[in-house]
Amino acid sequence: MDTKRCSKCGEEKPLSRFYSHPTTKDGLDPHCKICKRMTKKAYYIVNRQKCIEYSKAYYEEHREQIAKKKHEYYLDNADYFCALEKARRQVNKKEKAIQDRLYAQTHPEVRRAIHKRWVERHKEKYRRYQCLKAQRRITRKRNLLADLTVQQWELICNSFDNKCAYCGDPIKTLARDHFIPLSKQGAFTASNIVPACRECNSRKSDKDPKDWLSKKKYNEIKRLINNALKAIAMQEREELAV
Ligand SMILES: [Zn+2]
Ligand SMILES: [Zn+2]
Repeated sequence: MDTKRCSKCGEEKPLSRFYSHPTTKDGLDPHCKICKRMTKKAYYIVNRQKCIEYSKAYYEEHREQIAKKKHEYYLDNADYFCALEKARRQVNKKEKAIQDRLYAQTHPEVRRAIHKRWVERHKEKYRRYQCLKAQRRITRKRNLLADLTVQQWELICNSFDNKCAYCGDPIKTLARDHFIPLSKQGAFTASNIVPACRECNSRKSDKDPKDWLSKKKYNEIKRLINNALKAIAMQEREELAV
C-alpha cells in the first residue's frame, strides 16, 4: 500500500488518510486528516465567536443555495428518507403502545374506560370478535386446535376474494366454515376455515368436503387456503421485523 509521511505529526500513513489538495505535487494535503481536524478544532476553540458569526453570515448569504442543495439531496435519496421516516414512526408507535399498556396495567379504571370507549367505537368489530371467540371456545371444548385470529380471518377472506368458497357468491354475511367439519376433527385454524354463505354453510353441515365437492373444486379451495396461509406467514414475519 502506498503511504506518505504527515509533515505535522510525522507519522507514516496510508494515502487514504490525507485529504486531496489542489496545488501540491502529489495532489494530497501535507498534513494527515487527523492533524487537519485537530488544527481546525483548536482554531474553533480559540475563535469560537468569530466562527459562529462567520457561519451565520455564510448561511444568511447562501440561504437559497443551501436550501436548494438540501432539497436536491433529499430528492436524490427520497427512498432512503421515506424508509427512515416510516421506521421512526413505527418505533414511536410501538413504544407508545407499550407505555400505554404498562400504564393501563397498573390503573384498572383506565383500562376499563379504554375498553369501554373502544367497544363503543367499534361495535361491529367487537361483535365479530366475540363471535370468533365463541367459535374458538366451542372447538377447544372438543380438544381441537383453535387459534384463528381476526387478522388471519381477514386474510383468508381476501384470498377467497370475499366470496363463498363453495358457490362463489359475494358474501354479505360472512360465515366461518370448518372445511373439514368439527365432527371429523376439523380444527378452528387458518388452515381449515373458509368463508361460506349461509346457504352453503348449512347445506354442507358436517359432510366431508371430499365427498361433497368435485375433485376440481376441492383442489381449488385447497389452493386458496394455501395462498391465505402464505399471506398470513408473510404478515407475521413483517410484524416480527418491526
Ligand atoms: Zn498528522
Ligand atoms: Zn355459497
